[in-house]
Amino acid sequence: MTHSIDIPALQAIVGPENVSARTADLEAHSIDESCVTPCLPEVIVWPGDTEQVAGVLRYANEHEIPVVPWSGGSSLEGNPVPVHGGIVLAMYRLKEILDVNEDDLQVTVQPGIIYDDLNAHLRRLGLFFPPAPGSADVATLGGMVSNNSSGMQAVKYGVTRNYVMKLKCVLPNGEILDIGSRAKKSTSGYDLVSLIVGSEGTLGVVTEITLRLMGLPEQVSSAIAVFDTLKDATDAVYDAVRYGLDAAAIELLDGGTVRVTNEQMGLNLREVPTVFIEFHGPMAGVEDQVAYMREICEDHNCLEFDVAATPERRAVLWAARREARDSIKLSHAGEILVSGDVCVPISHFGEMVEYVHQVARETGMRIYVFGHAGDGNLHTEMILRRSNEDDARRGDRATDAIVRRALAVGGTIAGEHGVGLAKRIFLEAEHGPEVVALMKAIKQVFDPKGIMNPGKIFA
Ligand SMILES: Cc1cc2nc3c(=O)[nH]c(=O)nc-3n(C[C@H](O)[C@H](O)[C@H](O)COP(=O)(O)OP(=O)(O)OC[C@H]3O[C@@H](n4cnc5c(N)ncnc54)[C@H](O)[C@@H]3O)c2cc1C
Repeated sequence: MTHSIDIPALQAIVGPENVSARTADLEAHSIDESCVTPCLPEVIVWPGDTEQVAGVLRYANEHEIPVVPWSGGSSLEGNPVPVHGGIVLAMYRLKEILDVNEDDLQVTVQPGIIYDDLNAHLRRLGLFFPPAPGSADVATLGGMVSNNSSGMQAVKYGVTRNYVMKLKCVLPNGEILDIGSRAKKSTSGYDLVSLIVGSEGTLGVVTEITLRLMGLPEQVSSAIAVFDTLKDATDAVYDAVRYGLDAAAIELLDGGTVRVTNEQMGLNLREVPTVFIEFHGPMAGVEDQVAYMREICEDHNCLEFDVAATPERRAVLWAARREARDSIKLSHAGEILVSGDVCVPISHFGEMVEYVHQVARETGMRIYVFGHAGDGNLHTEMILRRSNEDDARRGDRATDAIVRRALAVGGTIAGEHGVGLAKRIFLEAEHGPEVVALMKAIKQVFDPKGIMNPGKIFA
């Protein structure tokens, strides 16, 4: 799809050096980390402030040209892929920390700042922003807000949406809105902040974000527990949640995922179902929690419970968990990875993990299972050979079965990666046609000409 785009008009808004239609730049913004087909935009624009974003949107809206916000490009569902061409609005020049309010434990940032960079700055002040996605070294705050990202610490601290207090958001017609307040709670009208969070760039462009923060915990303690069977591992996770352990992270890797992680990272973890656990809090409390978790794991036939004695050992363990997806990717270079992100009520997590393995056997597909077990959030990576129609067919069957089972037990198609392109076909199965119609009506109010990240969320 091509549009008649007036490059000099865009250059007049953001400066000539901040507009490009060079093939290399277009290609760099044609695909995220998902397996969807790459799509070239027609032009890349790098705005330097909110007014420039507004100017570009006014121009695009007037001429009905698609605009796709792009930050770190690390999404896993095709969320920022410009399927209808048009303008990619690359937000990563906007990466300043605008204000740290230590008195109220709040920070205001531009959307292009990377998660790890923000926390490196906050750490010096004894503060942090907790959601911690596995992609913490590349994910930006704009992308995290727009996907409502979370990660390994969501079991204790919640998801991005729980931390967003205020947003500056530019509507497709160029209007600039300040939404929300710095008050800890509010019942003042509809919660538009929560609506923008997770809207995947389909309603407007976020140019400033005010977050609440947490104080760094006094003590951090990590352990890994290894089990003979997935059932024992997921039963231990369930008991930890059921008995109210205040874990900061409870993550699961199946044996296959541990094997590729060992291969790629040169580790020698036992290649069996493994639970990674972390506790945050005051010294004594943390030690009690670790002891309690050990008891729970031993009750479920844990083969070994290894407390990370030093910060270095802790860093190695969590790097292994964080690099799980990249390890799978490296082990299957040249093949296609299809990512899954279903999330189910915790009482169904164990059966869901078993079910994925059953689907893998029945369809003959290779599927790795890992994820944020304490939240019931299951990540799957299914391996497909390129240009192999049989794999593609069996892969679709496997994905369909996994998603429908998650919905049947009261779960969701997308725990944290969003809908993007890849999960659109399941949106109605989760919400029903009436709710999807209401969502589309909301989109229409914000974006009557349909220029904002078209083709996403809705099939
Ligand atoms: C190895 C790996 C591990 C991952 N682990 C996790 C995980 O643990 N948890 C998790 O939640 N995700 C995870 N992800 C997915 C991804 O990293 C997150 O969704 C991340 O927050 C996306 O941020 P980004 O800056 O890359 O955004 P992008 O991918 O560039 O964009 C994300 C979406 O936001 C929109 N957008 C971007 N900026 C703006 C803006 N300023 N205003 C409006 N819309 C905007 C885009 O159009 C797009 O729809 C992982 C990805 C990888 C590759």
